[in-house]
Amino acid sequence: MAAILIDLQPGDEVIMPSYTFVSTANAFVLRGAKIVFADSSTENPNIDAATIESLITSKTKAIVPVHYAGIACDMDAIMAIAKHHGLFVIEDAAQAIDSFYTGKDGVKKALGSIGHLAAFSFHETKNIISGEGGMIAINDRQFAERAEIIWEKGTNRSAFFRGVVDKYGWVDIGSSFLPSEIIAAFLWAQIEHLDAIQERRKEIWNRYYLGLKDLAKGCNLSLPQIPKYATNNAHLFYLICETSKQREQLISYLKHHQIHAVFHYISLHSSEFYLRSNSLKELENTDYYSDCLLRLPFYYELSSDNLDKIIETINSFYKNV
Ligand SMILES: *Cc1c(COP(=O)(O)O)cnc(C)c1O
Repeated sequence: MAAILIDLQPGDEVIMPSYTFVSTANAFVLRGAKIVFADSSTENPNIDAATIESLITSKTKAIVPVHYAGIACDMDAIMAIAKHHGLFVIEDAAQAIDSFYTGKDGVKKALGSIGHLAAFSFHETKNIISGEGGMIAINDRQFAERAEIIWEKGTNRSAFFRGVVDKYGWVDIGSSFLPSEIIAAFLWAQIEHLDAIQERRKEIWNRYYLGLKDLAKGCNLSLPQIPKYATNNAHLFYLICETSKQREQLISYLKHHQIHAVFHYISLHSSEFYLRSNSLKELENTDYYSDCLLRLPFYYELSSDNLDKIIETINSFYKNV
């Protein structure tokens, strides 16, 4: 919907990190856009704002920051670049529910409320879920009316229900972007319990952090860093191993102890689909996260006993390397 709303044309360029899920790119590729991948920052897998400006051309239409693990990107920097070059900012806030950014103006803003448009996900892997489903945030009024039409399969049915028009029909392109009432009800109950869900998730996150921080001091192992401007919504917990080989060994060690830990994105700039029509460029930090980042089991029902066992097992692995 965001790609349609900004009236993206074939050949337009969209800048986004390579370390993200395919959906970030597909939304724009489906409108004929060319994706220009930026590197991640050294601090965390988010887009390195300092590299964006060099990727802008006369065809660039939008920047798509992804708030990885629900941790805010450097939004002041990104919004300033976008403003200077007349670009749209579409936040991929898929993982970012209940997370915030405090910029130089000191105002705490919800992720997904900063760019012109933003998309959230309620996929089963997120903090609150509806199985499949999502939400678009329209932060710029100019898009509101058309968004409703695109959302209603390209019809002005919503205006009809409000009594604004006396019949409805096909007025634009669109699709069936809306969830069913049953799915919405399932999600609503979780929104009502968001605070309780988040409280438990933050407990899990903090327990991991406290249980592994001494280890991280001693070994070449990194834990997530939360920039000062960001909050932590406990979407996921990751470690960064020293090498991909070490990560492989840790994964199989954990598996041997019946713990399922998984790596994350295989960077999109090195994907089969992208390389079919583009040449390989080097994105050093992206490759590093692709090779070395490992996610630990993370879900609301994860018991404290199991958490302690996972922490203990990781500690025992590093005793032997
Ligand atoms: C989950 C996720 C998506 C896709 O969400 P869907 O609800 O499956 O469309 C997109 N981007 C990121 C960063 C995600 O984590």
